[in-house]
Order: sequence, then structure tokens, then C-alpha cells
Amino acid sequence: MTVTDASIAAVRPLGLAEVERIRADFPILRETVNGHPLSYLDSGATSQRPVQVLDAERDYVLHRNSAVHRGAHTLAAEATEMFEDARASVADFVGVRENEIVWTSNATEGINLVAYAFSNASLGRGAPASSRFALGAGDEIVTTEMEHHANLIPWQELAARTGATLRVIPIDDVGQLRLSSAEEIINSRTRVLAFTHVSNVTGVINPVERLVALAHAVGALVVLDACQSAPHRPLDLGALGVDFAVFSAHKMLGPTGVGVLYGRSELLDAMPPFLTGGSMITTVTLEKAEYLPAPQRFEAGTQRVSQAIALGAAVEYLSEVGMSRIHDWESELGHRLVAGLETIPGVTVLGPPSGVDRAGLASFVVEGVHAHDVGQYLDDLGIAVRVGHHCAQPLHRRFGVTASTRASAYLYNTPAEVDAFVEGVRGVTAFFGVVPSELPVSKS
Ligand code: PLP
Repeated sequence: MTVTDASIAAVRPLGLAEVERIRADFPILRETVNGHPLSYLDSGATSQRPVQVLDAERDYVLHRNSAVHRGAHTLAAEATEMFEDARASVADFVGVRENEIVWTSNATEGINLVAYAFSNASLGRGAPASSRFALGAGDEIVTTEMEHHANLIPWQELAARTGATLRVIPIDDVGQLRLSSAEEIINSRTRVLAFTHVSNVTGVINPVERLVALAHAVGALVVLDACQSAPHRPLDLGALGVDFAVFSAHKMLGPTGVGVLYGRSELLDAMPPFLTGGSMITTVTLEKAEYLPAPQRFEAGTQRVSQAIALGAAVEYLSEVGMSRIHDWESELGHRLVAGLETIPGVTVLGPPSGVDRAGLASFVVEGVHAHDVGQYLDDLGIAVRVGHHCAQPLHRRFGVTASTRASAYLYNTPAEVDAFVEGVRGVTAFFGVVPSELPVSKS
């Protein structure tokens, strides 16, 4: 793809011709699977990488590989500069300052970092300012019924370690958060509100600003899981007003092994560390250590340098295409997905019906057919989808099912792929002789 003029990109929607050019940047999309051209509809799990990202990582490894923030030699200085430039690119991508971006190994580690830092504060660790993060009996942590396990279990564990209570905002029958319940559940005892921006199962988009307002009105801190939003839509974390946010590089054209934790700088600088060791200290004696300010305070040990540089290249690639244009393209694909699935008797989409704003993904069940069989049938056609509970067992339980099949689109998918996928699912129902019952799949 050539660099587009930003002002043109802002007004001209992403079209098929440009998507075909984008596809050419992704060698894997030229693969065949089971004798069919690969149709990759599993970017919600992990996305593919363009040559620009692979080249950035390779160039670094071949020509600049060195220890960052340590050596006095030229290579080390250049490596450090590239590492910090990547941080600046990521900060810019989500509308925050560089010192507010902490490298983690993935989003899961970012949420655990915050939960363990709060836990350490609860044990009295850290500077006096850390006490604001301390939790105990009587305090409440609030999350939602639609969370990925990564944004549920760390809070269960934090509650168990501190004596705080975990409370859960329920969803309605189409997977949307019950805002009236949120208003009741978030109260003066709430210390943390952790929720996902976009559900990885239903594609539901949560009203971040409204939830932030509810939390901040009672002095609670907000942790946003941006795993399914940062890759797909313009995101200005500063404007949204969240206190912490996480996302993973491998879901946004970048490599595995690196993720991002955003934290407001005044919070990060007051918070006790999670991991301790080299590279995060100012002075160390045999008895104790003084810590660097953020972000280094949270980056103990040797960092994932080449991966961070690759993530920097990934966000530059996404920005060149334009996040609004990517969002609009994927929205159309998402609506096409849901509308197509809704025409197939015996198929139930988990989440809002077509016409309701949602992310470019759809999870569904085929009556009487296990999700693994659906996935296998589609794989035979070269169509890659995700099957199982998508790390969201409570959400599946709420819908009365144990597993579903999920198709998730990205900027490199086409309407033709979506149509072929819908026909593939129609083929599943014919192959397995699905006879829809009168009752839809139980959602309560
Ligand atoms: N949150 C959501 C909404 C996700 O979709 C995922 C990944 O599927 C995660 C958290 C966890 O991401 P990771 O496994 O990269 O830490």
C-alpha cells in the first residue's frame, strides 16, 4: 500500500480496490487451505501481519539489535531510540502521553499488573501516595457479565486477596449492558470499575463515557479493556477519561509477545510496582530499593524490544489507512455478517440483531450442531473462524449455550468473503440436516 494523503483518506471511504491493495501487503492471505483460498475471519483472536510490520522487526534485529536503556555504545543508543519512538507512536495512536504507555507481554498481563499493584498497595507497599489504591473489606470492585476471562479473573483474585467484594453488572437478552443496573451497582463503596469497550463475543459496544462518569462520580478508578476496540476504531483514551486501559499488539497487525497498559501518569507514578528487578530502579541497597517513575517502574527486566518496534510499525500502518475508514469498512462487514446469518433457519446470533451498531464480528450457534463441527465444516472450505467459549464462559452461560462459532473481520476482509462464509454456514445446516425448532435458543 502507498501512503495515502491524510486529508483524502479522511473523506474517501475505504473501498474494494484499496482493500485489495491492502491485502497484497499480507502474504498469508495468498495461502490456500484445504484446496481453497484462505478466508481469514479470525482476527478477533489474532490478526495477520503486513510486510511493513515484519520488515520493521527484521530490520531492527538484523541491524540494530541491542540492550535498551543500558549500554553506552552507539547500537544500544539507537536501539533505545527506536524502542522509545515506538512508544511515542503508540501513545499518539491512542491520544495519550509517552510516559503513560507501559509495555506488557499482552493485555492479560496489563490487567494483572494493575490488580497486583492494587494488591501490593493493600499490603502497605509503595510510597504513601500508594494508599489510594489500597482495598479491603467493605470496598467493591465492579465488572460486567460480558467480560473476557482476562478482565474477570484478575479481579476475582484481587477481591480474594484483599477482602473486597466483586460485583457484576448484568446484560440483557441481546447482550447489552443493563445501564439501570450499572447505576445501582456503582456506589460509594466502588473503588474499581473494569469493563470491556467492545465485547469479543457479541460485538456490543459499551458506552464508555457514561460508565466513566458513573465511576468518577463516586471516586472509583476505571480500567478499560480495549482489546477489541484499539485495533478497529479511532480511540482517544485521554478524551474518554479512563484511568487505565489495555490492548494487545497481536490483534492489531503486530506481533505476539507485546501488549500495552495505559495509565494516567499521576496514577502510574503513585502506584507500587508489580514485577521488580533490573531496569526499574534508581538506587538499591541490600535492604531496599527506590523505583524509577513510570513507565520504567513497571518494566522490570529485559524488554520485548523488537516486538515493541513492530507494534510501532503496526499502528503507523493502521493510521496511514485511517482508523475511521477501517471502522466504517468493518461496520459494513459486521452488518453483512449478521444480516446474512439471520437469513439461515436454525442459526441464532448471540448479541444484537442486524441494524444495531456493533463491531465487525458475530458469534452464533447452529441448532443441534456443536461449534467444533461448524468450525470443521468451514475449515474444509478454507474459512478460518473461532469456536468455543472465546474465553467468556459466564457470557455463554447467560445465553444458555456452552460454545459458539465466531467470525471476525478486519480491514483486509471483503464482502465476498463474508458472503462465502454465510453460504458456508448455510451448507452446515444442510449437511447436518438442521430442522429448526419453534423455540429460539434460550437466552436466559
Ligand atoms: N480482552 C478481550 C476483549 C479479548 O478479546 C482478549 C483476547 O481475546 C483479551 C482480553 C486477552 O488478550 P491477550 O490474550 O492478548 O492478553
